[in-house]
Amino acid sequence: MSMRENAACIFCKIIKGEIPSFKLIETETAYSFLDIQPVTEGHALIIPKYHGGKLHDIPDEYLTDVLPIAKKLAKALGVDQEGIDGSVGYNLLQNNGRIAHQEVDHVHFHFIPKRDDQSGLI
Ligand code: 5GP
Ligand code: ZN
Repeated sequence: MSMRENAACIFCKIIKGEIPSFKLIETETAYSFLDIQPVTEGHALIIPKYHGGKLHDIPDEYLTDVLPIAKKLAKALGVDQEGIDGSVGYNLLQNNGRIAHQEVDHVHFHFIPKRDDQSGLI
């Protein structure tokens, strides 16, 4: 499946390697990397390899890997140990539109680790 891209988009450039990123997981249809301004340690972004501004613009086949990647990131975070002391969790967040605090117009899911020493709204 070939990606649909916008030559001016920073996230399309990241997928193509034209802008460096700290890559975490890549599949045929999705790419995940560390956020440059992390809200908490390990804050990651998961993006489809299809340029579209809002979730409803993205064909379903470019979204199928997004949640499985989020699950892998959660396991890498050690969230399975939550049962021991409840100290590890995460938020999955996706903003659509300026009114919803979206800044980059290429759909992205924020994966935000939460530990007992790192609070915050998102
Ligand atoms: P939004 O507010 O659009 O939901 O979030 C955009 C996110 O993209 C922000 O958390 C911001 O830090 C991140 N971001 C913007 N530009 C870059 C970049 O060039 N590299 C990386 N890794 N993250 C970026
Ligand atoms: Zn793009």
